[in-house]
Amino acid sequence: MTPAPVPRLRADVSELPRYVPGRAAPSDLVDKLSSNENPYPPLPSVVAAMREELGRVNRYPDAKSGELVTELSAALAVPPEHVVPGTGSLGVTKDLLCAAAGDGDEVLFAWRSFEAYPMLVWATGATPVQIPLLDERHDLKAMAEAVTERTRVIIVCNPNNPTGTAVRRGELERFLDRVPDHVLVVLDEAYREFVDDTDVPDGIELYRDRPNVAVLRTFSKAYGLARLRVGYAVAHPRVAAAVRACTVPFGVSGLAQAAARASLHAGPELLERVGTLVAERARVTRALQAAGWNVPDSQANFVWLRLGSHTPAFADLCETAGVMVRPFGDEGVRITIGTPEQNDRLLKIAGEWPV
Ligand SMILES: *Cc1c(COP(=O)(O)O)cnc(C)c1O
Repeated sequence: MTPAPVPRLRADVSELPRYVPGRAAPSDLVDKLSSNENPYPPLPSVVAAMREELGRVNRYPDAKSGELVTELSAALAVPPEHVVPGTGSLGVTKDLLCAAAGDGDEVLFAWRSFEAYPMLVWATGATPVQIPLLDERHDLKAMAEAVTERTRVIIVCNPNNPTGTAVRRGELERFLDRVPDHVLVVLDEAYREFVDDTDVPDGIELYRDRPNVAVLRTFSKAYGLARLRVGYAVAHPRVAAAVRACTVPFGVSGLAQAAARASLHAGPELLERVGTLVAERARVTRALQAAGWNVPDSQANFVWLRLGSHTPAFADLCETAGVMVRPFGDEGVRITIGTPEQNDRLLKIAGEWPV
């Protein structure tokens, strides 16, 4: 018997790295500190904007997210042609990679960094090149040295997920000066709003006079809209147009556009919540350090504990106590900053762990 014909797929598709999402919380009683989500529910004004949209879901959304683009361009002081919204900043990352890299090309990024980079790069056909962190930080010197003829994109995750560490202005400028102009540098600033160190550069300032730099931002973290899937890139016109060409039409839903706009209007109120989380990050860091933990300085809404082989045991202990954290193999756990009460519960568990 001849075997039934099967569809021909890409030869490497079964080997593609998969994104492993954080597990869903088994109940609402669990403190979910595993996915870097904002612990606060959407503001009433944001819910109202979405409610107004609900009656229109029979219609396609504005494919260009025109009003959102106009408002973002005003808020960031960049031309509207430079702003490209997408289905979460993950979606925009995929579009950017698809616009710049393909078979035979290389995409450089630090490792460990954001879990999704390897699969997004593979999906374009390009090869990920991972440069190990040095003391939990991007090793920008090694990254610059790893550039080859094939390098198309370098992603710098600033602050870095999952270590929380940020690269500073001087070192990033020196790095950008070293990278050839034909290599696109993507600054993934998913956590930008949580940065309180003035020496950590704002990517929007760095991209302005550098046509090979693009910035990624999202409404998922500080703005608390993770479930709606909306983020954006800021890039010079040639790059921005290429990214648009690779985007799924209508990728940003009407609900997401409405909520993102309402969130921009509620900026001060939302940034107050961000301020609370930043203050909690400092409190949690100090308390962990006082208990003997080695905690790298985080500029994001999470902290990183390098537990090595104890990683699964610590994550299990937390879960038994009703707190979900994110373990990464035998490297460490990433713990999202939650409400003060949630953080207290985490600190209690961590305080009892023999470090
Ligand atoms: C969470 C995260 C994103 C994803 O953001 P979405 O807009 O939800 O897709 C992108 N980059 C990094 C580094 C992140 O941690």
